[in-house]
Amino acid sequence: MRATVMYGAGDVRVENVADARVVEATDAVVTVTRAAICGSDLWPYKSMEPSETGRRMGHEFIGVVDAVGDDVRTLAPGDVVVTPFVWSDGTCVFCRVGLHTSCLHGGRYGVDGVDGGQGEAVRVPQADGTLVVLPVGRDDGLMPALLTLSDVMATGHHAALSADVGPGKTVAVVGDGAVGLCGVIAAQRLGAEQIIILGRHADRVELAREFGATDAVSERGEEAVERVRELTDGLGAHSVLECVGLGEATATAMRLARPGGALGRVGVPQEEAIPEGISTFFDNVTIAGGPAPARAYIEELLPDVLDGRIEPGRVFDRVGELDEVPDGYRAMNDREAIKVLIEL
Ligand SMILES: [Zn+2]
Repeated sequence: MRATVMYGAGDVRVENVADARVVEATDAVVTVTRAAICGSDLWPYKSMEPSETGRRMGHEFIGVVDAVGDDVRTLAPGDVVVTPFVWSDGTCVFCRVGLHTSCLHGGRYGVDGVDGGQGEAVRVPQADGTLVVLPVGRDDGLMPALLTLSDVMATGHHAALSADVGPGKTVAVVGDGAVGLCGVIAAQRLGAEQIIILGRHADRVELAREFGATDAVSERGEEAVERVRELTDGLGAHSVLECVGLGEATATAMRLARPGGALGRVGVPQEEAIPEGISTFFDNVTIAGGPAPARAYIEELLPDVLDGRIEPGRVFDRVGELDEVPDGYRAMNDREAIKVLIEL
C-alpha cells in the first residue's frame, strides 16, 4: 500500500510500505477514505533531522473497516468510522474520566509499528475503544466536517472548555489556523457573547466572522493586548483560547485574560517555560489545556455536525489526492492553505 513518510524537514514522500494488517486481537484495519494534514504535522516539517528510515505521518482520518481482530466486539467490516488523533482502550482509569489522551494502553499513530493516517490503510490498535461508527455513507457530503472531529474541532472545543467559555462570556481566540477557527465555532456553540479573533489573514478572519467572531484584532504583541482591552471595557477577556503554541503568541494570550479569567492552551508548546507566570499568578488566571481528548468529544459534537448546526468542514480550503500530500505540506507551511483534505 502507499503511505506518507517524512524523511526530514521539508522532505515528505508518498511511497510503498508494508500493507496494514491485523496484528493484535484488538486491532481493526481501516481503509482510509479521507485524511487531513494537521498544523502539528508542520512542526517536524520545519525541524525534523534527516532520517534514513523516515517517519510515518498522519493522525486524522475517516475510513471503512476492512478487517477486525478476534476480540473486537463493536465494529464490523463495512462500518464507516472516524478516529480521534490518538488510540485508546476506552476502559482504563483515565479513559473512564474522559482523558483518553492519557490512556494507560493507548498510543499515537505513525510510531511503534502503527500506521499513519496519511495512507491507504491503517492498523488501529484498541479498535473498540478508539473508533466511532458514523451513521453516514462513505462519500457523504458531511465528510469534511466529520473529519474535523478527528482533531481540530475537538481541539477547538477543548480549548473552549479549558478556558471556561460559557453564556455571556467574552472570549479571545489567539490564532487563525484551523484550530483557532474551530475554537471560534466552539465558543459560539457554548454561548459566548463576544468572540475576538486575533489573526492577520483577511480570508481567515472573514471565515471566523462567519463562524461567530464579533471582533477581529490584527495587531500582535503589546498592541494586540491594548486592542483587546479596548474591546472589553479595559478588563480583558473572561476566556482566552491559545491555538498557536509559539512563545510570542502564548505570551500575548496570557496577557489577554482578565483577573479571574481562564486560558485554554491547545497549541503544542514549542518552549518549556510558560510566559507571564507572575502577572497571571497575581490575577488569579486559571491556566489549563493540553492535547484534546477527542474521543471524549466526538459523540458530543457529532449531532451538531450531522444537523449542520456547526460547519467545521469549512476550514478545509484545499482538496487533493494522496500523491499531492507533499505539496499539501508545502501549501500549509507557506500559509497558502488553511488545511488540506486528502481524498482517497
Ligand atoms: Zn484507556
